[in-house]
Amino acid sequence: MIVDFDGTLTAEETQVRPLAERSLDTLADEVVHAPREQLEADYEATRGRLLAAPHRYWWEVNGLIASYCDEGAFILNTTTLQVMLRVRPAYARAVARAFPHAEYDPVVDCTNALFHRHTAELPPAFRPAAQKVLAALLKHPDHTPVVLTNSMGDKVRRHLATLDLPEQVLVLGDTRQYAMDPGWDHHFPHPQLGAIQVWPLSERYRVDLRRPVYYEALVRAGGDGSQLAVVGDTFSLPGALPLLMGIPFFLLRTPYTPAWCAEAVAAHPFGRVLQDLSGLPAELDAWPGR
Ligand SMILES: [Mg+2]
Repeated sequence: MIVDFDGTLTAEETQVRPLAERSLDTLADEVVHAPREQLEADYEATRGRLLAAPHRYWWEVNGLIASYCDEGAFILNTTTLQVMLRVRPAYARAVARAFPHAEYDPVVDCTNALFHRHTAELPPAFRPAAQKVLAALLKHPDHTPVVLTNSMGDKVRRHLATLDLPEQVLVLGDTRQYAMDPGWDHHFPHPQLGAIQVWPLSERYRVDLRRPVYYEALVRAGGDGSQLAVVGDTFSLPGALPLLMGIPFFLLRTPYTPAWCAEAVAAHPFGRVLQDLSGLPAELDAWPGR
């Protein structure tokens, strides 16, 4: 059972404001050297613009859409910062100066750095069912939980250590579900559309599947013959690839889950929408063919 961390085991919606505040502090003091109030006003204006037309804004990596802006609370924060920094030339220049040797591009590297630094500073905020669900999976003879996350493994291990668990949970950190590669030639079989690299869900939303790093992580995780399943609170990053690889995906519905994500998962034969994390062990036991 591959378990996403942020937003799935944790109440991301309660952490996003402190994360944004800290990120704006760092941008003001260390990166763009602009007044904090100006950055905050720009952040709020940008966030409003994104939410007014979420299908037009996304987290872009290597020219591809890694996630639409409205899929998760942290994703909305990341995308808001990215758009705010990209569209203002003075900010974009300052970010390019601060991140001269970018792995992706200066704005993506900047928002990654802000995310990893400041989420590591926040105290753990587990959902009420997190301990029970992980303990149930650890104790179940047929299930093994593995936390697979874009967050850094050390933060996740440190936070999991605060839960009273019967044994340690394996953590695969920094999995980079957002590592998009336009040159990757792998195609995924879709029952109606044939071999695809981009999954058209509607007129507005098309989910790009070119995520070789995440693909390899899933292939490795199933390499010992294990039957995989994935649970996550967002769709494009952790969920679309498993579904098209024939791996069950459970989408946890949260206060920020957009309808289009829940609809896409509910419409897929390998997808289930969880109303609460506490329902996961029973859903797994009820999975057809187990
Ligand atoms: Mg998540």
